[in-house]
Amino acid sequence: MASTDPAFHRELEAIRLLSVQVLRNLERTAAEVRSAQARQQPVSSAVLETMLSDPAITAIRRHGEELSTLQRKLDDQRDTLKRKENQALRTGFAFWLSGLALGWLVGLLFAWRTSDRILKPLLQLEQLMKTPGEDVNTALQSSTIKNAPMEIGSLMRSFLKLVTEGQELTAQLKSLASTDGLTAVGNRRSFDEGLSEEWRRGLRSGQPLSLLLLDVDHFKLYNDLYGHVQGDACLRTVADVIRSQARRSSDLVCRIGGEEFAVLLPETPLAEATKLAHDILAALDAMALVHGSSPVVGWVTASIGVACAIPQRDESASLLMERADQALYVRKGRLGRHGVTVAEPSADVSVELKTEDAQDSSVPLR
Ligand code: GH3
Ligand code: MG
Ligand code: MG
Repeated sequence: MASTDPAFHRELEAIRLLSVQVLRNLERTAAEVRSAQARQQPVSSAVLETMLSDPAITAIRRHGEELSTLQRKLDDQRDTLKRKENQALRTGFAFWLSGLALGWLVGLLFAWRTSDRILKPLLQLEQLMKTPGEDVNTALQSSTIKNAPMEIGSLMRSFLKLVTEGQELTAQLKSLASTDGLTAVGNRRSFDEGLSEEWRRGLRSGQPLSLLLLDVDHFKLYNDLYGHVQGDACLRTVADVIRSQARRSSDLVCRIGGEEFAVLLPETPLAEATKLAHDILAALDAMALVHGSSPVVGWVTASIGVACAIPQRDESASLLMERADQALYVRKGRLGRHGVTVAEPSADVSVELKTEDAQDSSVPLR
């Protein structure tokens, strides 16, 4: 391969010029030799010696050596360059590998941070959805959501706000669905549910479950005399009176018909339930809501049927209802209104009733 080194070119040029000179000397010597041959004279050895000791030839040799030295130098330089190039390549590859590893590490870190700040709030949200009882406000205050990236955090907050609103709405709907619109006590549906639930609980606990059924006496006459609107107000007052007496958190007061109320008393023996029934009638008497057309007394009165049972597997909750209803029927009819009648106790509660008058425990009529 031709070298681009200027020294190399200089040497070559010198050799070319010297070669021209040597050629010229050679031609001259050759002419002398030819003319000596033509004259049939021997060629003098001086001619040949002059030719061989031509300083141009020595110079050519020297330049030739110079060239070889240069060539070696150039070869050395090329080898060094090649070595450096390989080394650079190796170093570059090492750098590339380190860069790749670093990039991978950074990516891993980023993924970890991302999962920590994005996935965690999302997972927490999913958990919240699975457990509807979970407090949304606690979730909103949690560090997971506070530390979440802005967009995710605001998404979470909007979502949790929606969940809260949904939960509030559900609670409102539930309450509406189980509340009597006129009196704000439970409605028929909540009574039915409560009765089944407490019956099941009684089956497990073996505790007595009592029920009062209350019917306002001659309420049609009240309506007829005072009008439906005042009739409504009267029903609200009756409900308030019942609630004021059945104060335990487990007591369930419901309006189950037009002027009929039920009071479900979990873990309550018959004696206690009967006493509560009397207390309710006494409180209603104390209110003395004028009932001008009542054949009983001059104010609003009510009749109550009481029943109690220790829930049994071979019986149903409706049996308790039937017995209380039967007692109320007897009170409304044969025994006269404005009083309490206790249902014939079933075998399982009879022991508790030894001292209780099960047939007629009505309050005296005024
Ligand atoms: P008893 O002493 O035998 O129970 O006679 P009563 O008049 O109370 O019973 P009855 O079943 O004959 O009449 C019940 C009345 O209750 C008839 C109805 O107009 C009235 N009523 C039912 N629901 C409501 C209500 O929501 N508001 C009002 N104001 N009256 C109601
Ligand atoms: Mg009635
Ligand atoms: Mg009535």
